[in-house]
Amino acid sequence: MTSFLSEAEALRDEIIAIRRDVHMHPELGFQEFRTSRMVAEKLGDLGYEVITGVGQTGVVGIMSGGKPGERTVLLRFDMDALPIQEENDAPYRSQTPGVMHACGHDAHVAVGIGVATLLMRHRDELPGTIKLMFQPAEEGVGGAISMINDGVLADPPVDVALALHVSSFHPTGTAAMRVGPMMAAADEIAIVVHGRGGHAAHPDQTVDAVLVASQIVVALQTIVARNLNPEEIGVVTIGSLHAGDTHNVIAETATLRGTIRSFTPETRELLHRRVREIVTGVVATFGATAEATIHLGVDPTVNAPAPTEVARQVAVDVFGPENVDLQFRTTGGEDFSAVLARVPGNFFFLGARDDARGFNFPHHNPRFDIDEASLPAGVAILCATAERCLNGEG
Ligand SMILES: [Zn+2]
Ligand SMILES: [Zn+2]
Repeated sequence: MTSFLSEAEALRDEIIAIRRDVHMHPELGFQEFRTSRMVAEKLGDLGYEVITGVGQTGVVGIMSGGKPGERTVLLRFDMDALPIQEENDAPYRSQTPGVMHACGHDAHVAVGIGVATLLMRHRDELPGTIKLMFQPAEEGVGGAISMINDGVLADPPVDVALALHVSSFHPTGTAAMRVGPMMAAADEIAIVVHGRGGHAAHPDQTVDAVLVASQIVVALQTIVARNLNPEEIGVVTIGSLHAGDTHNVIAETATLRGTIRSFTPETRELLHRRVREIVTGVVATFGATAEATIHLGVDPTVNAPAPTEVARQVAVDVFGPENVDLQFRTTGGEDFSAVLARVPGNFFFLGARDDARGFNFPHHNPRFDIDEASLPAGVAILCATAERCLNGEG
């Protein structure tokens, strides 16, 4: 462990240079051509067996350890950026208008190269197989699943999967994780209300889609307030409501879009069922009709106990017990959940917040940035956790 930490600190400048290079050249999901070319080149130079075009723009790096061993440990790093215009004026700000690494996946790519470097350096001491998964399209467009469909978890089959996410919620020098569901299932609601349009002066001859949609928005808020067990966590948010074009016409249709967040299959089922029941009931009350569609998004991100215990011990070695939060969870969604649904593993948040330097904007904000000093510890934690899992722990 000591060795990984000091070696990762020695790589600091290289890790930061990669992070800044990727930050300056952000690419949207499934368009990570420059990023994946750079990753493939570096992995090849390091001596990895490199497979490109996995799940479109994904890259896999494979290394067999120098000692005999049966286990395969996968480490995942996502690479995609977001359709956001960066508002930071750092010298390494995005050079691509309208596209920005506003979630920190640029840092994940850099951490991944750092991990690749150190694990290859220690190859002779490692049993089993290391598989590096550089993933496209984490931001809601199915990159993890597309790599799984292309076989990233097979040949050799993966025993333990590890990943981290930088966090602007947590200060540098801290980590956060939890056994069990740590991030939420995130499903998308789309509702179209059909009323009967007409003259605003004769509402009696219409079915007002604006009024019906408004009642739906209000009634949906009773699901979490009145149907969900208060000890459970759920979110029903309507984020978009569109209806009507002008002041003197009663709208014929209204469209609503929103999200449903849950941590357990039972809550997920309850929230979906109540959304459908409320939409059906409200439109019937007012003489309208509606279609309510729920698109299944990511599953909950569920950490397995054994690998998470290893990651916890390693993080405590690095940061001290007072700096490792073991109760953290968030209603955000994460598509590494698709890997953790198939293979036991650990996903943790690496603190990268520094209030004094203004690195405290939320993820997906045009002024999001991270404290790069956090990154070497992330490299060390992943390397040490992977080493222990290769040796049969977790
Ligand atoms: Zn994100
Ligand atoms: Zn992210």
